[in-house]
Amino acid sequence: TDSTQYVGRFAPSPSGPLHFGSLVTAVGSYLQAKKNEGKWLLRIEDIDPPREIPGAADNILKCLAAHHLYWDDSVVYQSQRSELYLDKLDWLAKHGHTYLCACTRSQLLHSDVFCLCDCVNRSLRIKDCAIRFKHSDPIKQFNDQVLGQISFKPNELPAQFTLRRKDGLFAYQLAVVVDDIEQGISEVARGADLLSATAFQLSLYRAFQRATPKFLHFPVVVSKPGMKLSKQNHAPGIDNSKASSNIIQALAFLGLSVPKSLMQESCANILQWAIAHWDIHSLLAEQERIDNRIELVD
Ligand code: GLU
Repeated sequence: TDSTQYVGRFAPSPSGPLHFGSLVTAVGSYLQAKKNEGKWLLRIEDIDPPREIPGAADNILKCLAAHHLYWDDSVVYQSQRSELYLDKLDWLAKHGHTYLCACTRSQLLHSDVFCLCDCVNRSLRIKDCAIRFKHSDPIKQFNDQVLGQISFKPNELPAQFTLRRKDGLFAYQLAVVVDDIEQGISEVARGADLLSATAFQLSLYRAFQRATPKFLHFPVVVSKPGMKLSKQNHAPGIDNSKASSNIIQALAFLGLSVPKSLMQESCANILQWAIAHWDIHSLLAEQERIDNRIELVD
């Protein structure tokens, strides 16, 4: 692929079936990729077995296919990429970006979040330690394609964050950046619930000495003010038998209202229309309308 090609992705965690909020992210990232004549890759973020629901990954694939949201290339499963993550973790360690930390979660919460904990001065052994990223020089702002300049609050920028947990599992921040780099993602389009994750990820791009992709964050669907739809709070799964109507609702949420004449059409035809009419600036208008909802879940 040539380096100017748009490469986007959808990266669900199989902690449950897709719900309306994740469908919105899928549709938005799909349209953005197709409008830019690019690729839309699918990555299953199954690096956290304790939070995984058996069958959820297959269920997600079926749901996307039922909505005619076909991905390009083969599906990437993070559970199969441990060697790659280990390798990159090693690289970060060799370049002085990590330290071993024996603190518990509550010890960390109760210590000064703006200083590295004392573990950095101890010679700990990897067994029973987490690997943390030295984040003492955080990146304080970035430009979002829709939201414009995003500035982080100091309390969103702690001096360390986890790359590998004590139990040996890789952290989302590490895996997501390694994969986005490795898959050549040119724009990360995802829900605004991950806005502050972007801060950590930008620091990882810098540490890896890699150019950052563009970032675009979609409005978050809430069930009531401040209540993000999520698998954790048991948002209902998508009903595949109502695929066209689900797509129409997702498009409306993203600022595209499907004309009446198309309402009875297949997902394929509706999506075709949506690609032609997609414009992230209409998303912006919609975003402004629901801005306070974003504030609330922030
Ligand atoms: N796997 C993450 C989630 O389902 C999203 C990762 C991303 O888009 O960066 O919330």
